[in-house]
Amino acid sequence: MTPQSLAHVNGEIVPINEAKISLLDWGFLHSDATYDVAHVWDGHFFRLDEHVQRYFAGMEKLRMSIPYNETQLTALLLKLVGQSGLRNAYVEMITTRGVPELGSRDPRTCKNQFFAFVVPFVWISQPDQGLHLAISQQQRIPSASVDPTIKNYHWLDLVMGQFEAYDQGAQTAAVVDDKGNIKEGPGFNIFIIKDRQLRTTAKGVLEGITRKTAIQLAQQLGLQVKLGEISAQDLRQADEAFATSTAGGIMAITQVDHQVLGRGQIGPLTQQLQDAYWAMHSEPKFALEVDYELPL
Ligand code: PLP
Repeated sequence: MTPQSLAHVNGEIVPINEAKISLLDWGFLHSDATYDVAHVWDGHFFRLDEHVQRYFAGMEKLRMSIPYNETQLTALLLKLVGQSGLRNAYVEMITTRGVPELGSRDPRTCKNQFFAFVVPFVWISQPDQGLHLAISQQQRIPSASVDPTIKNYHWLDLVMGQFEAYDQGAQTAAVVDDKGNIKEGPGFNIFIIKDRQLRTTAKGVLEGITRKTAIQLAQQLGLQVKLGEISAQDLRQADEAFATSTAGGIMAITQVDHQVLGRGQIGPLTQQLQDAYWAMHSEPKFALEVDYELPL
């Protein structure tokens, strides 16, 4: 079988290029949607149950629903990946508000829509490379306006931050709050390490599954982890820093704006955490095997 990207749309599995959604869906017109992204590594989903739980929690807060429960969704995603043949994959599940009745602007008249797709694994940065991060002037949309713990598509701040970063020759950006504290980046959380203590932003960010994994692994290594604010100066003066995301795992940050961070290489603790992160992928507790032989 040749591995290929697939989508689950309107209850059917189709090649991703043939997947279509309505132009009138509020997911498209108003970013009125929630989603989650899990990954498959070496033929196994990593911590899929936690992604599915976060996705259902987001839908509940947004008053959305889909015609599947968590067990049915898990089976559907396993089937989608199994049919794709992709052994290292990026798997996105999406609920949109849907299309309101003709002539109506009442979201209660919308029928929520479910979509999913699987594509080859996406890297924000390769594990053996250091990320060059710019601290953007862009402020993250305030949590009082859009709850960042609901995974959402309010990404204009993050995308404009990325453009700012490219203008400076950096690879990606961190957006800030109104006090200039570091929040998160396009698809990742941020950690610093100073004097063997880790710190990651407590509030105003998505509570990433990789962030949670990094915290657990650090604690297992006997390191202290603090949840709190990270100022721009804290980041610049850190011994080590890293980004966490489903799209790449634990990724060292080795340059901030025009300044090298630490020794300008992946730091020893970041390396240990990264090794532990990839090793965790073969622990049965966190790995759910995909069956690639299921009949179509
Ligand atoms: N922050 C934002 C805004 C994200 O979109 C993501 C993931 O896409 C993350 C953080 C990292 O979350 P996770 O580790 O669950 O992939």
